[in-house]
Amino acid sequence: MTPLDQSVSVLKGVGTRKMELLRRLGIQTVGDLLTYFPRAYEDRTYISDIRSATLNEPCCILAMPVSAMRHAKLRNGRVLSKVTAADGTGQVTICFFNQRHLSLSLQMGQEYVFYGKIETKNHEKVLYNPLFEPLSASPVLTRRIVPIYRLTAGVTSASLSRMVAQALALAGDYIPESLPDGLRAFHHLPHRSFALHAIHSPRSMEELALARRRLVWEEFLLFSLGLGLLKQRRVGKVGHSFAPVSIEPFYRVLPFSLTAAQRRVISEITADCGAGRPMNRLVQGDVGSGKTMVAAAAIYLAAQNGLQAALMAPTELLARQHQNTLAPLLAACGIRVGLLTGSMGAGEKRAVLQSLQSGELDLLIGTHALLSDGVSFPRLGLVITDEQHRFGVHQRVLLAEKGEAPHILVLSATPIPRTLALILYGDLDISILDELPPSRQPVDTFLIGEDKRARLYQFVRKLVAAGRQAYFVCPIIEEGESSLAQAKAVNSYTKTLQQNVFPDLRVSCVHGRMSSKEKEAVMEAFAAGKIDLLVSTTVIEVGVDVPNAALMVVENAERFGLSQLHQLRGRVGRGIHKSYCVLLSPQPTGETLTRLKALCKTRDGFQIAEADLKLRGPGDFFGMRQHGLPQLKIGDLACDLALLQEAQGAASQLLLEDPSLSSPNHCALKAQVHALFARTDGGRN
Ligand code: ADP
Ligand code: MG
Repeated sequence: MTPLDQSVSVLKGVGTRKMELLRRLGIQTVGDLLTYFPRAYEDRTYISDIRSATLNEPCCILAMPVSAMRHAKLRNGRVLSKVTAADGTGQVTICFFNQRHLSLSLQMGQEYVFYGKIETKNHEKVLYNPLFEPLSASPVLTRRIVPIYRLTAGVTSASLSRMVAQALALAGDYIPESLPDGLRAFHHLPHRSFALHAIHSPRSMEELALARRRLVWEEFLLFSLGLGLLKQRRVGKVGHSFAPVSIEPFYRVLPFSLTAAQRRVISEITADCGAGRPMNRLVQGDVGSGKTMVAAAAIYLAAQNGLQAALMAPTELLARQHQNTLAPLLAACGIRVGLLTGSMGAGEKRAVLQSLQSGELDLLIGTHALLSDGVSFPRLGLVITDEQHRFGVHQRVLLAEKGEAPHILVLSATPIPRTLALILYGDLDISILDELPPSRQPVDTFLIGEDKRARLYQFVRKLVAAGRQAYFVCPIIEEGESSLAQAKAVNSYTKTLQQNVFPDLRVSCVHGRMSSKEKEAVMEAFAAGKIDLLVSTTVIEVGVDVPNAALMVVENAERFGLSQLHQLRGRVGRGIHKSYCVLLSPQPTGETLTRLKALCKTRDGFQIAEADLKLRGPGDFFGMRQHGLPQLKIGDLACDLALLQEAQGAASQLLLEDPSLSSPNHCALKAQVHALFARTDGGRN
C-alpha cells in the first residue's frame, strides 16, 4: 500500500466526523484528496497599502492591531467586536460580527495579513469579517493564489487546503508518473507530481496553467484510450450480411405512413446491414420523432434474414411499452417477440430464455437483464439500445458481445452537441431523424412563479374537464431529501394535490423507489385514462407514450438540466390534442432565468443541447453523466477542445503502436484507464 491508498484519517485533524464529511465529497483516501481539484482560484498574492487599497474590492493588507479589542452587544442581538489596525500608510477599523472568539486571537502589536473588502463608513475605513493570519504563519489564506474548492457544510476551503497540503507532503515521492517519458516530452507536459502540487498551490498563474494543461491532457488521454479500447473489440470483424429483402410487407402493417426522415434512415440501415461488416449506427432524433419504428424496420430485416434481435431499454416501463407496441405489429409479419425484465418471476424468465435458446423468438425486448449470463441467443444478428444516454458506453458493447459481431443500432433522443459527439460516438455512423410525424403537436411552454400557481390549478381543472390528463414532475421523492429547501417531493405533493386542491380528481404517483409491478400498474392505469393527474419523478422522462396527456407541469424547474426538461416536455403533444408544458420556479434569476426562457422559446432539441452546454456553469459536466461516461474531474469540454483533440490524436497513435497497452511502458496507463471506466454505471432513475 502506498501513502496514496491510506485513509484520510491518517491526516491531522481528520476524525470520524470529518471523514464522513469528506466521504460526501467523494474523498476517502489521501490520493482522492490530491485529485480533488479546486474549482477556482483567487489571486491573493498582492499586498496593498491601507491608504491606496481599492475600496469595495477584495484585497490583502499587512497591518498591526493598535488598540485593544472592544466588544458591544447590538440591538439585534449580534455581538460586534472592533479593533483598530494600522500599517505605515493609514488606519482601518476591523469589525467582526458574532466572532468574538475569533477576534480574540488578534494580538496587539503583532503583524497580520488581512483579506477582505475595505469600505468607508462615516469617513472611516472599515474591514468587515476579514480572513486573517499572522505574518509569521505559513501562507494559507493570504499571500498566495488561493484555491477554492467545492465544499459541503462543515468543510471550509481553508481546511481542505490544509489537508491537501498534508496529503502532498505525505505522498512525497510516491506520486506515480503515468505518462511515458517520450510522450510527456513530446507534448511538453510537466511531471504529474509537479502538476498535483501546482494545481493545489500554484506559485504563479503560469505555473497553474502548466499544471492544469498536464492534468486535463492526461484525463482526456485516459478517456480516449478507454473509448479506443472499447472500439477495437469490433474492428476487423465480419458482419452478417443481410440479403436484400423487400420491406414493403412491414410498411403495410403500420397504422400510418412513415415520414421521409424515417424512410431515409431505414434505407441507411439497410445499406449498412448489407455491406458485409457490422453496422455501428447511432440514430439521433428528437423526442417523438418515431425512432421505435426505425428500430422495428431493422428488426424486420434481421428476422427476414433468419437472425434474432435484441432491444434493450433503460427502464422496465419503457421495455414493456415497446413490447406492447411492437409485439402486435411484428406478429402481423410473423415475427415472435419476448420480454425479459429483472422483476419477472424465475419461472417466467426460464420460459422466455428457453424459447430464445430454441430459436422460437425472433426478438427479445428487455432491460439490463438482457446482459445477464443466462441470456444466450443462438443467432443474434442485431442489437439495439434505446435511449442510449441512459446506459454506460460499455453496456452497449457488452450486449453486442452476446453474438458474433452483430449489427449495432443505437437510438438516442438526447441530441449531442458536436463537440461531445466527437469523442462519444467517434466509432459510430450517425443518422438524424430531423422530422416529426405530422401527428406531433407543438407544445406551448410557459415559465411561471408561485404567484400564478392558483391560475395553473384552474387551468388543470379545465383540461381535465375536457377529458385530458396531466403530469406533475417533482425533483425528489421524499421531503428532506435535498439540502435545498422548498423542493417539491412526490409523496407529499401527491397528498396535497389530492386532499387540498383536487379532491374530486384521480391523483396518483409513480417514482423510482416503487417496485416495477407497482410502477407498471400505475402507468397502465394512466395510459388507460383511469388517472387524471400523475405526480412523478423523472422516471417518466424516457420514452413513455400516453397520447391523451396534454399538460406537463415541472415543479422546481430550476433543478433540471435543459435537455432533461426538453425530454420531459416530449411526454406531451403526442396525440391530437393541443398540449402545454408549464415550468414552475419560485424566483428564477440570472442564469437560471436565461436557461428556462431559452426552453420556452425553442423546440429544437439540438439547439437546446448546445445552449445547455454553453450555459452550464464550470464543473457541471452535464454531457458526461448523461451519456454514461466517466465524469471529467478537470477537463472542460466547452473550453478544452484543442487539448482534447491533441490527446485523442496521441491516444490513437498509442493504440496503433500497442493495441492492448500491454508493453511495460504502458501498464500504468492501462491501469488508470480501467479504474476510470470501472466507475461508470449508466442507467439510473
Ligand atoms: P421517439 O423517437 O421519441 O422514440 P416514438 O417512436 O415513441 O418516438 O414515436 C412517438 C409517437 O409517434 C408514437 O406514438 C408513434 O406511434 C408515433 N409515430 C411514429 N412514427 C409515426 C409516423 N410516421 N406517423 C404518425 N405517427 C408516428
Ligand atoms: Mg423512444
